[in-house]
Amino acid sequence: MTRSVTVRVPAKVNVQLAVGGLRPDGFHDVANVFLAVGLYDEVTVTPADALRITVDGPDADRVPTDHTNLAARAAELLAARHGIAPDVHIHIAKDIPVAGGMAGGSADGAGALVACDALWGTGASRADLLALCAELGSDVPFSLVGGAALGRGRGELLTPLDVGGVFHWVFAVADGGLSTPAVYAECDRLRAVSGPGATVDHVPDPEPSPALLDALAEGDLVALASALMVGGAGNDLQAAAVSLRPSLAETLAAGTKAGALASIVSGSGPTCAFLVQDAQAAPELADAMTASGTCRAARVASSPARGATRL
Ligand code: ATP
Repeated sequence: MTRSVTVRVPAKVNVQLAVGGLRPDGFHDVANVFLAVGLYDEVTVTPADALRITVDGPDADRVPTDHTNLAARAAELLAARHGIAPDVHIHIAKDIPVAGGMAGGSADGAGALVACDALWGTGASRADLLALCAELGSDVPFSLVGGAALGRGRGELLTPLDVGGVFHWVFAVADGGLSTPAVYAECDRLRAVSGPGATVDHVPDPEPSPALLDALAEGDLVALASALMVGGAGNDLQAAAVSLRPSLAETLAAGTKAGALASIVSGSGPTCAFLVQDAQAAPELADAMTASGTCRAARVASSPARGATRL
C-alpha cells in the first residue's frame, strides 16, 4: 500500500495579463497568458490522524499552516466530495517565492489535490481535477496543466498553447509580498483617476496579443521580447504593482540596464521577471541583479515547465 505520495508543481509567469473592467460582482475578466517556469514546490502527503501542514524552505515562516493554506483546502475539498475524512499530513517543500505573483499557493493546491487523489485512490479524472482546481482559485488549474495556456474568465478557463522553444528567465524576488486583491484594487483606482473609468463599461474586453501567441508558438525570443516590451502586450497590473511598491521601478530598470531583453512585473508582483538571451546569460543577469541591491534574491529558471507531476 502507498504510504506517501509526492507531487512536484511549477511556478508561473504571466507573459500577458490583460485585465478587463471591474464587473458588478467585484471580479475582473482577464486574458492571461500563463507560462510555467522551472521553480518548483514539492507537496508530500502521508496518512495521519488528522489534517496537518508542515512547510520548509527559505520563506516557510510566511506560509500559513492552518486551514487557509490552499493545500489544506484542496485536501478538504477532495475528501468532502468523496465523503471521507481529510486525515493527512501535507508537507510542502517550498521553493517558489511566497506572495510574489508566481502562484506558489495555487501550485500547492494543485499538488495537494493530485497527491491526495493518488493516496486515497479517489480516482478523479483529469476533468474532475480541473473542476476542483477552479473551485480552489483562478490560478490553480494552470498549476495542474503547466506548459503554457491562455486563461479566460477569471483565468481558470484554459486553452493550452504551443511553445516552440525554451525561454530563459531571471526572477528578482522582493522583500515582502503584495496582496493580489490590493493590486487589482489599485489598478481600478488608477483607471478611475486617470482614464475614462474602471468598470466594464469603460475598459475594453481583455484580449490576448496575437504577436505574443505567435512568438511563443514559434519559440522566437526576439519577437517575445518585443511583444512584452514594445508591443505592449504586457501586464495591466504592472502600473498598479509599481504604484503600491515604487521601488519596483528601480528593479525593472536595473534588469534592463544589465542586459535583460524584457523586464516585467510577474503577475501581481512584487517579483519581477527578466527575459534573457540564453542559459548562460541567466546567471550573469542574476548576479547583476543581486549586486544592484534592488531585490532580495535573484532566481534563474527556464520555461515552459511541466504541470503537477507525481515523483
Ligand atoms: P498569485 O500569483 O496566484 O496571485 P502569489 O504568488 O502572489 O499568488 P502566493 O505565494 O500564492 O502568492 O501566496 C499568497 C498568500 O496566500 C500568502 O500570503 C499566504 O497567506 C496564502 N497562502 C495560502 N496557501 C499558501 C501556500 N500553500 N503557499 C504560500 N502561500 C499560501
